Amino acid sequence: MGVHIFWDSRVPIGLSRPVTEELSAVLGTPVSRIDNAIFPLEGYDPARCQYDAVKILTKLDMFRRRRADLFKPQDMDLDFFNRYNHIYEKVLLITPGDLFAPKTSFVYGLAHLKLGAAVVSSFRLTNEYYGRHPNDDALIDRLVTEGAHEIGHLYGLEHCDNPGCIMYCPNNLDDLDRKRKYFCGRCRLDLDSRIRGGFEY
Ligand SMILES: [Zn+2]
Ligand SMILES: [Zn+2]
Repeated sequence: MGVHIFWDSRVPIGLSRPVTEELSAVLGTPVSRIDNAIFPLEGYDPARCQYDAVKILTKLDMFRRRRADLFKPQDMDLDFFNRYNHIYEKVLLITPGDLFAPKTSFVYGLAHLKLGAAVVSSFRLTNEYYGRHPNDDALIDRLVTEGAHEIGHLYGLEHCDNPGCIMYCPNNLDDLDRKRKYFCGRCRLDLDSRIRGGFEY
């Protein structure tokens, strides 16, 4: 059972290694990455200039089944992978496209628990988007925080009231930057038991 980061090469590729390593440390579970691929984004809405995150996740799940060579552990049977991969193999797409979801003007990311697939957009995580000087370290921190947040959802965690916790739901960049790269005690216990007991759901 693992977590795979699928890194769209239109997001600065030099960040993929530090983000993956930090995500693994923050989550406390191995995280592998798949680089140098351009994932064809579906669901572009020209009126909003944004992508429908739900459509992206559905496509990502289909893509994962077609490209089992990228995502399937070597020792796992293909039929088993296609039938149960949403339980065992979680995938997070990092994309440059701006995202929306139903009833929202935008989302930083979205997770689909039953598909075991999540997406995070770098679009609103860069300093440049807010007219500030570019800063790779800040972008790495935000990708790790939001990536861990969506993977937390994939393990079944819900939102947390603690503004410093990764599972806090941020409304803006200040909220996001207030979060530290850790799960609060309660979320940590919950996550650890779900990572250990991954066969429960
Ligand atoms: Zn959330
Ligand atoms: Zn928490």
